[in-house]
Amino acid sequence: MSDSPFIVWFRQDLRLADNPALAAAAETGRPLVLLYIWDDSLAWPPGGASRWWLHGSLESLGAALAKCGASLVLRRGKAAAVLDQVIAETGAGGVYWNRCYEPAVIRRDSLIKKDLAARGLAAESFNSALLFEPWEIKTQSGGPFKVYTPFSNAAFKQTPRPARAAPRKLTGVALASDALASWDLRPARPDWAGGLRESWTPGEAGAQKRWAAFFAQDVMGYAKARDLPAVPGTSRLSPYLHFGEISVHQLWAECGRVEPTPGVATFQKELLWREFAHHLLFHFPAMPEQPLRPEFAEFPWRKDRDLLTAWQTGRTGYPIVDAGMRELWRTGWMHNRVRMIVASFLVKHLLQPWQAGAAWFWDTLVDADLANNSAGWQWVAGCGMDAAPYFRVFNPILQGGKFDGAGAYVRRWVPEIADLPDAHIHAPWEAPLQVLAAASIKLGSTYPAPIVDHKGARDRALAAFKALRQGD
Ligand code: FAD
Repeated sequence: MSDSPFIVWFRQDLRLADNPALAAAAETGRPLVLLYIWDDSLAWPPGGASRWWLHGSLESLGAALAKCGASLVLRRGKAAAVLDQVIAETGAGGVYWNRCYEPAVIRRDSLIKKDLAARGLAAESFNSALLFEPWEIKTQSGGPFKVYTPFSNAAFKQTPRPARAAPRKLTGVALASDALASWDLRPARPDWAGGLRESWTPGEAGAQKRWAAFFAQDVMGYAKARDLPAVPGTSRLSPYLHFGEISVHQLWAECGRVEPTPGVATFQKELLWREFAHHLLFHFPAMPEQPLRPEFAEFPWRKDRDLLTAWQTGRTGYPIVDAGMRELWRTGWMHNRVRMIVASFLVKHLLQPWQAGAAWFWDTLVDADLANNSAGWQWVAGCGMDAAPYFRVFNPILQGGKFDGAGAYVRRWVPEIADLPDAHIHAPWEAPLQVLAAASIKLGSTYPAPIVDHKGARDRALAAFKALRQGD
């Protein structure tokens, strides 16, 4: 029995360094079945961009395991059934995994754990994805936090566990494995992933490289540069963090070893936004579908397919919005400042439900993350616990001027208006006709005229939100 293998079930922890389930399983000295299960039967299966990313991550994980002398076993199907099958094939004595926090995954994993334990098998789960488990940070009365600042103050007072090194050698069990290509995670025709390939290297090695470059250089200017979409001022670690290709414990520990400059401190605060979003999702599991403030369930959205399509395809006539949506479509990522602007525009200017925006992000972001995405949308829509007040309607023209003053971001993603002078780059419809003509722009033909009037849309949104607050 003691020679029976243990299964390490990889999920959103696609790395060798600081992988507690892998390390604990290796320490038992038993041979290991290194397993990844493609189970898309639960709520919120990965969207298109995430599936593309996952393919690259699994390739990378397989190569890293091979260097340690072991191989990755790929199987497809419902997780419980696949685990049973692999246990039957190998006589495995236990399963180790790292925890995930999507509500459907928690429910599934709890059942699996109970069932394995009832059969006398070792079933252990570990913390790998978060600095703190969502139940570890509590208010004085023992409940969950609903507001970020007290949450982060409480988190800063705690010390997360240290990060562990990657194992160098592993004893794997060779087992029949699906061919990764047979899962069709990457698009065949049409192949929309060209921009993703140009922009990213999924996998642990790519994550470490990106982190090293950011931490050596960009973190110094992060406190200011993080708001400027035209400069590479943020870490772009979000997809790697989502898939667990780099450990947040490693990032936190390295931040703790250097001088606490404003850049480093601000970066740590952003990591705590991620913790906070997971804390909220754990305690309020309906968050991806239902507004956290229940009165918002009655909001009079004006669902309109054409408006949603114009937004999705970056054809609203508002350059900063269109630039963001095109960046998203091409690269699978969008700058945080611009995520706030485009989300506010969809919900407030166009009165489309935040869930429709969240669903589009879910399909197109390589970092699509149920906790961060739902929290981000609810925050912008004003229906989250710790949300932007409902009367905060981002002005896309002023936001553009403030954070992309010279228009470099807009010019990159909306090249058809690139020849406009800076003074008009964020509001082409206000440019005199001869200026438009000199830039070869015909509004409504070469670039859309605005699909809504900013002031009218703002007033309409404020009236709708105000009526809701007053229960009219
Ligand atoms: P950095 O600025 O380098 O921050 C470092 C890390 O901190 C990020 O990788 C991320 O893990 C975390 N982080 C930073 N800001 C936030 C935040 N506001 N909320 C939660 N975590 C944060 N982030 C996702 O990872 N997945 C999503 O699906 C997602 N959807 C969003 C939807 C909306 C409407 C909004 C407004 C924000 C969303 N975010 C989401 C948060 C944020 O925009 C991204 O995490 C960030 O832009 C990623 O870029 P970065 O890695 O360069 O971030």
